Order: sequence, then structure tokens, then C-alpha cells
Amino acid sequence: MIIVFKPNVSKKDETAVLREIKRLGYRPHIMRGVARTVVGAIGDELTHKSLESLVTLFPQVVESVMPVQKRFKLVSREAHPANSTIDVRGIVIGGRKIQIMAGPCSVESEEQLLGTAEAVKAAGATILRGGAFKPRTSPYEFQGLGERGLKLLAKARRETGLAIVTELLSEDHAEMVAHYADIIQIGARNAQNFQLLIAAAKTGKPILLKRGLSTRIEEWLLAGEYVLSNGNPSLMFCERGIRTFETYTRNTLDLSAVPIIKNESHCPIVIDPSQGSGRADLVIAMCKGAVAMGADALLIEVHPNPAEALSDGAQQLAPLAFARLMAELKPFIEAVGRE
Ligand code: PEP
Ligand code: MN
Repeated sequence: MIIVFKPNVSKKDETAVLREIKRLGYRPHIMRGVARTVVGAIGDELTHKSLESLVTLFPQVVESVMPVQKRFKLVSREAHPANSTIDVRGIVIGGRKIQIMAGPCSVESEEQLLGTAEAVKAAGATILRGGAFKPRTSPYEFQGLGERGLKLLAKARRETGLAIVTELLSEDHAEMVAHYADIIQIGARNAQNFQLLIAAAKTGKPILLKRGLSTRIEEWLLAGEYVLSNGNPSLMFCERGIRTFETYTRNTLDLSAVPIIKNESHCPIVIDPSQGSGRADLVIAMCKGAVAMGADALLIEVHPNPAEALSDGAQQLAPLAFARLMAELKPFIEAVGRE
């Protein structure tokens, strides 16, 4: 159920309503918008009727009580009609500016990471990506530098001011990754690892939730619901392609996910054209499409020497190609009224 508050409600009145919601057996989740506050109340659907009494009980506070018909509640647009924005070290995701997250697939060395960080920053990226824990298909492939990689990411942040997004692979590492990361990435292979989602949510860090290789949009939204229902309001979805019969591309980037997520949810949507195509030559076209669809951010793999990358070489852009992409993308970003 969604409880919509009237504007300018006092703290005392708000507390009284929340107490009543809890007394009736629901868990309230407060979402503060610019104009007004709404509360998502999660509880037994069979007792929904009793919450409707809030309107008569608190006429000065509660404007309306609405059921959310969808299976996903807190991530839904119904729960929070305005777009949510996530502020990461002053970088706003979900606002007017399309944020560019760029960097290597894997953190490989200090020289590789710092060089890439400087290059992507100079080209206009605001967030540095880089995997320290890598979910590799084969156990014989490079698995990432672990905490040493996280330390290098922290060093790159100190030197460039870029924020950091990096993947969390295991519940055991939740605290460690949260200590270094500004945004925690949950990878496609873990999109429905619910215990991992709960552990990530509980760190309080913003979560970038990739779509699974064969995850339906409703399942993806419900996976996001695990983040919000565990007390973390800072969630962004990231479409990175799904597995289809097509072999020209590594994955089929589902750009229709952008308007669908925008319609169904208030959370920002990020597009990853690198995993999404698996081909460096397609990344720019996918970026243009993503911008046209209304994506809030792009997650792009950049490596100083893609041919020698320890992971995902075929889809990573060299710094020069990335700088060209950024210049070529600019008029597309302006054409959709964004920065
Ligand atoms: C990545 O970002 O390098 C990655 C492994 O992504 P995904 O989980 O989308 O495959
Ligand atoms: Mn990758």
C-alpha cells in the first residue's frame, strides 16, 4: 500500500502516522520527494483494508491510501511518481546530466588503472568503473586482483576525484567492497542472488543492479525490490544485454528496457553497451540509441590496450576511441535536452 502525505507535514504528525502503520502490522518505507512524502507500507495483503482508516484517522496528514497492484511495490512508479535521483559524491544519477561511468573491465595494475582513469576523466566521465572481483565463466581465467584492486580504485579516486563503481561477487566481501566503492555493482550472473542483494543493500551504498542473462523485466524489478525493501533507497537498474539466438553480438542489448523501466519505476536506468554488444565497433551506436531512449547513465569499458586486456578485450575501447565517442555523443545528448 502507498500512503501519500499532504505537503508540509510536521515531524510529530509523521511519527504518529508511522507508529499507526507499524501497529497495524506493516513495515513503512519513507520516500521523500521534492513536493511531498509518500510511504510504502509492506505487509499482509489480506489486511489492506485497515490502512484505509489512516485517511479518516489523520485527515491533516494523509491525503490518500492506494493499493499497489504490481508484484513490485517500492521500486514502482506508483509508489514514487517522481524520478529518483542518487547523489554519489555530488554526482547526480537520474537528473538532467547523463553520467558517464567508464574504465577497464578488470583492474589489472596501477599503471593501467590510473592511466585509464586520467584519460576517461579528461574525456568527460565522472565515475570510474573497474572490476576487482571478476565473475569469469572459466575458473582458469583472470579472477581479478581482489582487495588490491579495490585499493587501486581508491587511489585512482584520490588522484582524479572520480567516483568508483565496482562489482560485489560474494556476501563475504560486502563490507570490504562497501568500504572502497561509491556504487556497488551486482553483476548479471548474480541478478537474482537474493542473499547477495540483501547483503549489498544493507551496506547502505548505492546499488547498480545489472539485468541477468535471461532475466525478465518483472523479475529484474523484483530483484530491485530486495534492495529497497531492505532499507536502501539508492538503486539504479543497468541493462547489459540478454542472451538470445543471435551470435553476431555477445548479447542482445534490449534498449526497450529503458522506456519500460522509466515507465514502471522511479529508479534511474543505466545502459552498458560494452557487455551489451561485446564489440568495440558497436559501442558508439548503442550509446546513441541509449541516449535517445532516455538512459540516465552509460557504463563503458575502456582499456589502454584492449588487445592485451585480461578480460573482455573485444569490447573495450582504447582511450582515444573513447574520447571520440564522447565528442560524437555530445549532440545526441543535447538533442534530448540533457547535459
Ligand atoms: C562487467 O561489468 O565487467 C561484467 C562482468 O558485467 P556483467 O555482469 O553485466 O556481465
Ligand atoms: Mn566486462
